[in-house]
Amino acid sequence: MDTLLLKGKPVSDSIRLALEPRVQSLKEIGIIPKLAAVIVGDDPASQVYVRNKARAFENLQCESDTHRLDTDITVEEVLTLLDTLNNDAAVHGILVQLPLPTQLDSKTILHAVSPKKDVDGFHPENLGLLLEGNPNFIPCTPYGVLEILKYYEIPVSGRHAVIVGRSNIVGKPMFALLAQKFEMGNATVTICHTGTKDLAAHTERADIIIAAAGAPNMITGNMIKEGVDIIDVGINRVEDDSEKGYTLVGDVNRESVMGIANSVTPVPGGVGPMTITMLLVNTVNSAEKCRKLIACH
Ligand code: NDP
Repeated sequence: MDTLLLKGKPVSDSIRLALEPRVQSLKEIGIIPKLAAVIVGDDPASQVYVRNKARAFENLQCESDTHRLDTDITVEEVLTLLDTLNNDAAVHGILVQLPLPTQLDSKTILHAVSPKKDVDGFHPENLGLLLEGNPNFIPCTPYGVLEILKYYEIPVSGRHAVIVGRSNIVGKPMFALLAQKFEMGNATVTICHTGTKDLAAHTERADIIIAAAGAPNMITGNMIKEGVDIIDVGINRVEDDSEKGYTLVGDVNRESVMGIANSVTPVPGGVGPMTITMLLVNTVNSAEKCRKLIACH
């Protein structure tokens, strides 16, 4: 069987192209979609993510402000900044880059982002709306996975999807989406984690696998059935003696699934490019809601 590589770039490009006229028509009435990113400390990977996000907003002629805070900042100081951003009418989306330093309780901070500007979709109100089937902001990575499935016309309804990983930002919202009774959901969903006794017994029965564990090369060819569609969310740095000192690999051992799976997303170049694109989508959606509010006055 030829295994199709589900590249994220064409999906991402088509979504960004569709956003351009929407941004333009907002501009015509004086609204420029704007993201405020808050980053605490100097984690190198987080710095790269925030820089890439800022560049993507610039390319779409949207605005983004990055608020860089010292590692030893207090919770109160972060909450004061979030309060200012929540009340700034020019800001349509707020994101707090994770992970936060250990002295900051991430729940307290994420809960302080206004649900109306929570473009990451991590606020409990937005997670609750997602579970209810009435989403406000869908978390960007699971949203991007859904868009990949849609673009490549991978059937979901009636199939058995196995998600490996149950984090609040990937695994759980992915479950809420795939199990939902709607066009891109309606799957029978199994969710696995470190408490799962025999992971292969579940992945072997899957029609779709969503690997989001952060465990390099964990899913191998002998754990899957022929014709499965695999979405590899994992991004793991594996140290080696290459020039960079590491190689990025997914949670799926790609070589071993080729020829068995119907399709698989590459790492890098699969889900990765989608996450920032869905952040753009959520921010433009938020700015458009703001336009509706203006129209009501
Ligand atoms: P977390 O560490 O928050 O969660 C990992 C989940 O996987 C946990 O539920 C954990 O189980 C489970 N898990 C870990 N190891 C195993 C294992 N060996 N067998 C079964 N389950 C396991 O990670 P995230 O959800 O934040 O991220 C997951 C991966 O996705 C990472 O590689 C991350 O870098 C990547 N990622 C990629 C993004 C992208 O844009 N492509 C965006 C976000 C994340 P338990 O709950 O029991 O601990």
